[in-house]
Amino acid sequence: MIPQTDLSWQEESWQSALKNLVTDANELCALLQLDPQQLDLSPEAATQFQLKVPRSFVARMEIGNASDPLLRQVLNVKDELLQVPGFVSDPLEEHESNPLPGLIHKYKNRALLTVSGACAIHCRYCFRRHFDYEANNPGSDGWLPVLRYIQENPEINEIIFSGGDPLNAPDRVLKKLTEQLKNIPSLKRLRVHTRFPLVIPQRITDDCIDWLSLFSNTVVVLHINHAQEIDKHVAEAISRLKSAGLILLNQAVLLKGVNDSLKDQQDLHQSCFDLGIQPYYLHMLDPVKGSAHFDVDKDVALNLYEEMRGSLSGYMLPKLVRETPGDIAKTPL
Ligand code: SF4
Repeated sequence: MIPQTDLSWQEESWQSALKNLVTDANELCALLQLDPQQLDLSPEAATQFQLKVPRSFVARMEIGNASDPLLRQVLNVKDELLQVPGFVSDPLEEHESNPLPGLIHKYKNRALLTVSGACAIHCRYCFRRHFDYEANNPGSDGWLPVLRYIQENPEINEIIFSGGDPLNAPDRVLKKLTEQLKNIPSLKRLRVHTRFPLVIPQRITDDCIDWLSLFSNTVVVLHINHAQEIDKHVAEAISRLKSAGLILLNQAVLLKGVNDSLKDQQDLHQSCFDLGIQPYYLHMLDPVKGSAHFDVDKDVALNLYEEMRGSLSGYMLPKLVRETPGDIAKTPL
């Protein structure tokens, strides 16, 4: 349901929507008619990782529901300050696979570019919430050293645009980088990891479709955790991506209090599939500092997955996986 609080976002360009994010928990509570005292808010948690949420995403939250699954993903709460053994700043040890600023080379045939250090939304469980984007800014040399590295390592045949959220960068920058990559003969595929089509659907402009279509094989990996994130504007953005012939996958994170019931999982994967998005991964939470309250116990996750196996068509069932630092790929549970 789209609440009546503030609908001005519908006419905004994506750039204006980005400038007009909700960044204050009290404003968020006011929009949702919630009493901030009920919510265990922590200003300190917001200092460590700023509250950031687009108004179009807020419009999909349920008024008066302090446990709303979309709200829980973005709200800075006291639980983030708990020190929990095993929950660390760099849970995937990405600093070990970061040969150049802007480049993460973890897996043999694919390399990831942190194209933008910023996102339209701050997901409290994000495994890169402590990532050093400053040190990973390619700087004045631009992407040339990274392009050279890719050329010198021809086993890399797939590039992943990530971040942050790569669609936070302007289309002209993304187009130029994509054209440069397209000139490297060993590269066969482009993959783009993004939440923008969900959180600011008007980001899917003609110019965006234009550079996304430069590679003949482009895979857009969306990040949808709950069916409630999908409204008609999101469906339109997905339809535009689909009409351009792009391959659409979804990866979700299994999050306590957000999507850890059978109904949540059924609704999510069925809604994705019905829009033309193939369910791909259901990730166990990466143990990043500040996110332990989202953690779902492994046995609980396996029981839930067994129920999903019995109630979803096989082609809608994502792989339940965990990422282990140093492993050759994600590990199915
Ligand atoms: S990188 Fe992705 S998961 Fe992390 S905060 Fe940004 S949008 Fe959310």
